[in-house]
Amino acid sequence: MLDLDTTRDRANYSLEDMDRNSLFHPLTPIALHQQNGPKIMAAAQGVRLRDHAGREMLDCSGGLWCVNIGYGRPEIAAAASKAILDLNYWHLFGSSSNEMTIRLADRVLNLLHDHAGARHLKRVFFGTSGSDANDTNYKLVRYYANLRGVPEKRKIISRKGGYHGLTAAAATLTGIEAYHTAWSLPSTDVIHAECPHQYRFGLPGESEAAYCDRLIADIEQIIAREGPETIGAFIAEPIMGTGGVLIPPAGYFERVQKLLDQHDILLIADEVITGFGRTGEWFGSGLFGLKPDLLTLAKGLTSAYFPVSASVVSERIWKVLEAASPEHGPVMHGFTYSGHPVGAAIAMANLDIMESEGMVANSAEVGAYLLENLKARIGDHPYVGDVRGRGLMIGVEFMADRETRKPFAASQNAHRLVANQAVEHGLMVRALPFLEVVAFSPPLCITKSDCDEAVDRFAQALDATTPALR
Ligand code: PLP
Repeated sequence: MLDLDTTRDRANYSLEDMDRNSLFHPLTPIALHQQNGPKIMAAAQGVRLRDHAGREMLDCSGGLWCVNIGYGRPEIAAAASKAILDLNYWHLFGSSSNEMTIRLADRVLNLLHDHAGARHLKRVFFGTSGSDANDTNYKLVRYYANLRGVPEKRKIISRKGGYHGLTAAAATLTGIEAYHTAWSLPSTDVIHAECPHQYRFGLPGESEAAYCDRLIADIEQIIAREGPETIGAFIAEPIMGTGGVLIPPAGYFERVQKLLDQHDILLIADEVITGFGRTGEWFGSGLFGLKPDLLTLAKGLTSAYFPVSASVVSERIWKVLEAASPEHGPVMHGFTYSGHPVGAAIAMANLDIMESEGMVANSAEVGAYLLENLKARIGDHPYVGDVRGRGLMIGVEFMADRETRKPFAASQNAHRLVANQAVEHGLMVRALPFLEVVAFSPPLCITKSDCDEAVDRFAQALDATTPALR
């Protein structure tokens, strides 16, 4: 590796060396990166990626669960180009507005009304990442409590395994220890309830109903211990993504919702992954009949062609904010890029494609096909414990001993070895950080024949990794 500071040898300065000498990568072990260098992606089209060395890959990651309509759509480039030439920037501060953002807010509400029965959701606050949208929600829980004269009602119950982002407040909500220790998180205002994943955390012989009882009892105990007057909200992904594609037991959300209503606790549905078709439904809230007071959106809203996120606010919260406004003045929260007109134009074009090409229905149909074929092909593999999912959000969980459900030691990195091997076989999938799970979250335009190829490549990668797992 060349060191620019000492050599200044630009003629021999590779892109890899430039990366090592200039970039600070998120979620990357620095020492290994300096040793091995970056994996540079160069181009993509549809569901196909090509890296800097010219190697082709089938993308079953959708980037970070986010490229919902697939790569390289010229309609998005045209919409972006037009928006830039029309009005490349204007903001929303102090009643300022712009047409594209107005239209996008209206459209998001209509989609939520039509596809999640969420007629109670009334306003959209825009940001640029899932993390900042969850920070907005975190602050809104406090603001709402303060305006109602109950400032102590501000704690938030999250769940172990939940992922809500990595800004300071969002990382606190995230229920995965690896994101906490180095940063002295979480704060005492966030409590993590049990992770709803019976396959891994259920007791031997326990029925699904009994397991669900245990999860609800845990939340009840937290509320009783902390005092309901201190709990402002409960945050949950309808299906946990980064935690391992975890589908809660039957009846879980109905019972959680009841408990929250009983204690006047807000529900925040984090739909950063589950929003916009990933589960085969438009929204996870529709899938589980949730009635969130705050809803977090990002990723699929623009299919990652532009960073846009949203916090959607219910009538119940909005009414309190509106009534308090004459006394309290402006809501002192917002970002330079809240309601960026280019982002909004891209989101609109993205939603046009999603609707006109039936991508949500494709996610349901092709997702079921991929799940079935993965189960058939690798479900009996000695190190595959569970294959599960909904739509195009699928997880494969590995076990050192599938009979006794003994997990691999974290230090073995079993799922990471498989995911790395998959890349060698031309398939991009992601190893997740909480359990030994590899996730499949391809663009929603993936076809059944692409899935056949993905299953073949994954099975080959698994066979090639098996000796290292013994
Ligand atoms: N919430 C959920 C459910 C997520 O999966 C993510 C990211 O993966 C986030 C929030 C954070 O989003 P971002 O990385 O855009 O900040």
